[in-house]
Amino acid sequence: MGRVYNFSAGPAVLPEEVLREAAEEMLDYKGTGMSVMEMSHRSKAYDDIIKEAERDIRELMNIPDNYKVLFLQGGASQQFAAVPMNLMKNRKAAYIITGQWAKKAFAEAKIYGEAVAVASSADKTFSYIPDCSDLDIPEDADYVYICENNTIYGTKFWELPNTKGKDLVADVSSCFLSEPVDVTKYGVIYGGVQKNVGPAGVVIAIIREDLIRDDVLEGTPTMLKWKTQADADSLYNTPPCYGIYICGKVFKWIKKMGGLEAMKAHNEKKAKILYDFLDESKLFKGTVEKKDRSLMNVPFVTGNEELDKKFVAEAKAAGFENLKGHRTVGGMRASIYNAMPIEGVEKLVEFMKKFEAENS
Ligand SMILES: *Cc1c(COP(=O)(O)O)cnc(C)c1O
Repeated sequence: MGRVYNFSAGPAVLPEEVLREAAEEMLDYKGTGMSVMEMSHRSKAYDDIIKEAERDIRELMNIPDNYKVLFLQGGASQQFAAVPMNLMKNRKAAYIITGQWAKKAFAEAKIYGEAVAVASSADKTFSYIPDCSDLDIPEDADYVYICENNTIYGTKFWELPNTKGKDLVADVSSCFLSEPVDVTKYGVIYGGVQKNVGPAGVVIAIIREDLIRDDVLEGTPTMLKWKTQADADSLYNTPPCYGIYICGKVFKWIKKMGGLEAMKAHNEKKAKILYDFLDESKLFKGTVEKKDRSLMNVPFVTGNEELDKKFVAEAKAAGFENLKGHRTVGGMRASIYNAMPIEGVEKLVEFMKKFEAENS
């Protein structure tokens, strides 16, 4: 059985080269006589792995020295709580609701304080990004929150909101390392890595140092306090060692590919192939506003549920996996993260053309 073209939204495709390298090192990591899975997180070998991973992501994203990089666990969803717990000094925050993940983060924040929805695209099933140039952001809001790339609906903030001076917190789970970012525009950038960077179980948080504080909300668990993790260089307790090791390999792969500029060009090229086809097809069509289209997650429909089902089944049989849309929206979705090769998208479009010819 060969490898399929895996269009899963997450956990998702990883670079084959990374998987092969990990396989080679499985039984004996660099002469240690053991797997990375089996070694102490306090060992010299592991210390080198996590330090190098941090150096590489800092270099890739050009992260300034006054930002900490934390390798955490609990997934992106755990940070839905950690964000308000660590940042809600005034117990108030502004949320922009552009999909299910933003909604979940918003609901979680409400447990800890007053979360205010300052904009939403719920009126049109989250098929666009609202205008965020002049929002009514409360004077005493502790931060403004966005989900930068909406994995389920396939939209992306191409322009960051005007936060009126408040710190911006962004969930970048599904666009992590897909293009260059200006870290200085954010207070906190965090993401679960299983979409674009590594195996599930690791979440990376990049946090401006002044936001890492002792005076967090009362009752914040030690493990969720960013300061605990920052003071211990992400080694307060046993971290998701193996997952971080794979992330480190993905960072090296991205560097080898030419860094984030090159990733962006690669991702734009792939997305264009698919979007251009969707725009000319008589059968398939994209579901979101063109100006807000994601480069990573591309939802589309035929307009006929039965035909959608048939397409997903036939695509699967032809080696294109996980094209079914999210259970809450139906239709199809092709997630074309960094590690999806151009041929994967070209072949998918060829297959869609054939399906269109046979079904119209
Ligand atoms: C997948 C996803 C999440 C949830 O991630 P978990 O690691 O499963 O908690 C949150 N936000 C976004 C944008 C996602 O794509």
